[in-house]
Amino acid sequence: MKKSMRRKLENELDDLWREIIYLTYDFTCEMCGREMTPEECHAHHIIPRGNFNVRWDLGNGSLLCNYNHNEAPDAPHHDNEKYLEWLKVHRWKGHYERLLRKSGEKGGANKLEILELMQLRNRLKEIKICMEELRAKSSLLTYTIRYSL
Ligand SMILES: [Zn+2]
Repeated sequence: MKKSMRRKLENELDDLWREIIYLTYDFTCEMCGREMTPEECHAHHIIPRGNFNVRWDLGNGSLLCNYNHNEAPDAPHHDNEKYLEWLKVHRWKGHYERLLRKSGEKGGANKLEILELMQLRNRLKEIKICMEELRAKSSLLTYTIRYSL
C-alpha cells in the first residue's frame, strides 16, 4: 500500500516536471530552436533521473527535439560529454556546478519521504497552473498586439 502510494506520487511528479519543462522552454528545442508539438518534445534530465536530489529540480531539465536528444554529435544520449560542454557555454555561469553539488548531497540517491513528495507535488502543480495562466495571457497579448497594428 505504502509502496504504491510512493509510486503514484513519483509518477505524478515525473508528469508535472515534464509538463513544466515543456512550458519553460515554450515547446522549443533548446539546442536548435525548433518549435515542437507536445508529442515531439523530449524533456531531458541533465543529471540522470535516478538521482532523487535533482529528479524534479526544474533546473535539471532541458527541452530537446529527438535529433538533439538522441542523434546529433552533441546530443546527450549520443555523447554526453559534448552535450555538457554545450550546456556549460549556453547556461548561466555555475549552473551545472550547482546541479552537481545538489545531486551529491546526502549521498545523492536518498528517496524523499511521502510527505516531502506530496509537498513537492503540490508546489509543482501550483507552478504549472501559474505558467499555463501566464502562457494564456501572453498569447492573448501577442494576439492583441499583432491584430491591433
Ligand atoms: Zn533540436
